[in-house]
Amino acid sequence: MHYRQYGRTGRLISRFSLGLMRCLDSAAQLEAVLDAAWRLGINHFETAQSYGPSEAYLAQALHSLQLPRDQVIITTKILPDRDPQQMVEAVLRSRDRLGIDSIDCLALHGLNQPEHLQQAIAALPALQTLQAEGVFQHLGFSSHGDRELILEAIATDAFDFVSLHYYLLFQRHAPVIEAAAAKNLGIFIISPVDKGGLLHQPSAQLIEDCQPFSPLALNYRFLLSDRRITTLSFGAAKAEELAVLQDFVDADQPLSLEEAEAIARLEQVRQQRLGRDYCQQCYACLPCPEAINIPEVLRLRNLAIAHDMQAYGRYRYRMFENAGHWFPGQRGSRCTDCGDCLPRCPHHLPIADLVRDADQRLAGAPRRRLWGD
Ligand code: SF4
Ligand code: SF4
Repeated sequence: MHYRQYGRTGRLISRFSLGLMRCLDSAAQLEAVLDAAWRLGINHFETAQSYGPSEAYLAQALHSLQLPRDQVIITTKILPDRDPQQMVEAVLRSRDRLGIDSIDCLALHGLNQPEHLQQAIAALPALQTLQAEGVFQHLGFSSHGDRELILEAIATDAFDFVSLHYYLLFQRHAPVIEAAAAKNLGIFIISPVDKGGLLHQPSAQLIEDCQPFSPLALNYRFLLSDRRITTLSFGAAKAEELAVLQDFVDADQPLSLEEAEAIARLEQVRQQRLGRDYCQQCYACLPCPEAINIPEVLRLRNLAIAHDMQAYGRYRYRMFENAGHWFPGQRGSRCTDCGDCLPRCPHHLPIADLVRDADQRLAGAPRRRLWGD
């Protein structure tokens, strides 16, 4: 396993981190997964107050496995709150549940909307007092929000690390990676396999399009070869699931020419297959008065049509209107043909037709968000 410095925290962290959101059945389940991860070289375990019994299970597993405390990095997350005192109490609860003297990395969970960032900023003095007392060591945040909001949070200089979505098939946050690296923040990528495209069960078309690499390998190599990115989360529910990482634990060399060509080819293939309907993800069409997240709706459509990623498209699309600020935006069926977006699209896409088409392809029974998201 390769390790990198987790930005300004100064801690050496494994290139893969164990996300514990899928180990909620029992303490024994979490212990088995944790043990396998540790044997693989993973030294960073990530939980959250919102993951039910996860913190308590982690405490039991740490005690039972007797892992050397100074070599283990524990991150937990607390939700932002209007009342800073509630956040202080949440941090203390987490520390006590985890059974440790000091939380290594405390993340504010889901700075997804401007008010969450305002709440975080308002709570900073209280949190910094806790930090000075040693209740936690480093402060960071996770976000499923807009690029601009994440950049704003980074610009506050209040955080040591950031957790975000960024994948081969979703590169909207490339400027965030740049900004975070410029401030020497640790960069943690959330769920690259699942949210990155359901890459553990890729479509036959995507497999063909990524040849001679697997979609999973190409995505991992895209992320691991980027030296600015510190660690990638892996959310195992069983110890055996970690075996897939075996091929990647040391695979952070620069991209080979063949890999770079395969990555470039994917973009070309999408352009060719979508033709004049290809949404180039510039986001110039927003805002939509019906709050349709046009670029994300059309990204899912792009992938469904170009790489036959229907399953991924349906999985993500069905979260619109069902996951609150964790996956904001209305469905394409809400389009009223107002035409506001049309002149803003530099590629003159028939957006109203396309978002409705996406809806027909991808809508189905609503899907609620799980904490693994
Ligand atoms: S035409 Fe449809 S998608 Fe475009 S801004 Fe109006 S409601 Fe939104
Ligand atoms: S402006 Fe056009 S190309 Fe850009 S994201 Fe919107 S629909 Fe896509």
